[in-house]
Amino acid sequence: MGQPAIIDQIDTLRSGVNRLKIRSAVSLLVAVCLSMTAILIWEAWTARQYHLHDKEVAMSNLAQTLASQAQATIKQADTLLFALVDRLEHDGVDPVRLPRLLAAERGELSQLHGLFVLDEKGQWVANSNGAEQTGLNNSDREYFIYHRDNPGRGPHIGPTIKSRSSGEWVMTVSRRVNHPDGSFAGVALATIYLSHFLQLYDSIDIGRNGVINLIADDATIVIRRPFNEAEIGTSLAKSPLFLQLLPKADAGTATIKSILDGVERVVGYRRVENYPLIVFVAINKEESLDGWRKQALLSAGIVALLLTFVGMLGYRLINLMRQQNLVQVELLDTQEQLLEVNRNLERLALNDALTGLANRRQFDVFIEAELGRAHRNQAGLALLMIDVDHFKAFNDHQGHLAGDECLRNISAIITDNIKRPTDLAARYGGEEFAVVLPGTDYVGAFLVAEKIRRAVMQAAIAHGESPEGIVTVSLGVCACEPNSELRPEDLIGAADKALYVAKASGRNMSVIAN
Ligand code: GH3
Ligand code: MG
Ligand code: MG
Repeated sequence: MGQPAIIDQIDTLRSGVNRLKIRSAVSLLVAVCLSMTAILIWEAWTARQYHLHDKEVAMSNLAQTLASQAQATIKQADTLLFALVDRLEHDGVDPVRLPRLLAAERGELSQLHGLFVLDEKGQWVANSNGAEQTGLNNSDREYFIYHRDNPGRGPHIGPTIKSRSSGEWVMTVSRRVNHPDGSFAGVALATIYLSHFLQLYDSIDIGRNGVINLIADDATIVIRRPFNEAEIGTSLAKSPLFLQLLPKADAGTATIKSILDGVERVVGYRRVENYPLIVFVAINKEESLDGWRKQALLSAGIVALLLTFVGMLGYRLINLMRQQNLVQVELLDTQEQLLEVNRNLERLALNDALTGLANRRQFDVFIEAELGRAHRNQAGLALLMIDVDHFKAFNDHQGHLAGDECLRNISAIITDNIKRPTDLAARYGGEEFAVVLPGTDYVGAFLVAEKIRRAVMQAAIAHGESPEGIVTVSLGVCACEPNSELRPEDLIGAADKALYVAKASGRNMSVIAN
């Protein structure tokens, strides 16, 4: 991997792209957990609605069944009454045969508590139960008053009462008996055991708080399960059943709050066909949701376990990612340090420590390579050898440190005066420098040599032991023709010779090799 790529990667890591990845992972984890929770809640809610709907259907079916049962039970008694009224109106009362007939008919129907005939004053005329009836008067009963005041011939269902003959709770079904002229002649009455209904109602599983009501049209309770004497006859006129449900439909289901005990229930209701009664069944809403609640809790438990598992897994993964990131950053840091060390080593191996120019090793490799290239490309190449004049004396008088400083200055001057990127300036050894100028001929090389020489003079580095009073350099210039077969040592040798000539000829000059 290249250095810039590594540095880019380190920067990327530090600039938080990886932190972004971790944040994305956290977001994903949170999203998964939230989705699972949302699905759970949605499923639980749907199941609850479905459950409640199921209960409403069950309540509706139960109301339908119980309404049919009530209708059948009452119809049987009413059929007897209808025949009895007909007989009374045509044959009158036979004090011997009528009680026997009533007793026989009563024996036919298990739900029947009794059959009674009252005259227009409410006096008992005949009964199925063999009760001593002298002096018994029922003119105060609701059904008697109803028939006395209403000419209607249909059946009437009165409020639930406690039988005067047996003390048992009974429902009354009655019909009016007329004189031939249509005036009121009395009442034929059938009483039905409440227990007949209650036994059935008690056998139905509608939970601990469930309710079954048989309610008269005038909103009074006829039968209520659970049975409570005090509630018989209570008016439900203010209940949602009478205020909201019945005005809308004769049968239906709903979820309502009871005005009797304040419990919210899922209810079903239905009017009993042909009779002024309403069957009302209700199951405690909360209790009916028990099954659903258990199911929902189980699902919630499983999802909670899953979420914990996913959460832990995600946490571990994110931690691993964090650690991996740290390790990666550390690794890249180390790599960067190694590269830096490498670069330094490379510099040390190829550059001169004092001047920063290429060292002898680099020079050797470079001139070899460039000569090869010049040969291949049929190009020229020039070499300058530069030697500081009277440098020993400079050193001796100004000290080694000043000598080093002087060498550094001359290096800088040389570097400043070679402009092409392909040129190479090297410290050849001691106070000698070499400049390789690829693609340059004698003339060009000589111009560069002179530029360097003059620049050194212009720098005017004081040198008491030199005839000029300043530091000067001598240069040997040598160049090879584009198609020459010269080797590096030939070139160096030639340049050296030219340099020697320059020294011998008085120094501070450039000499071109022969
Ligand atoms: P000439 O003009 O004939 O070249 O005379 P010169 O005194 O320069 O001759 P010579 O080559 O004998 O001297 C080279 C001197 O350069 C020897 C040494 O004191 C000095 N020298 C070589 N390398 C270094 C260096 O790295 N630092 C310093 N300060 N002086 C150096
Ligand atoms: Mg020398
Ligand atoms: Mg010298």
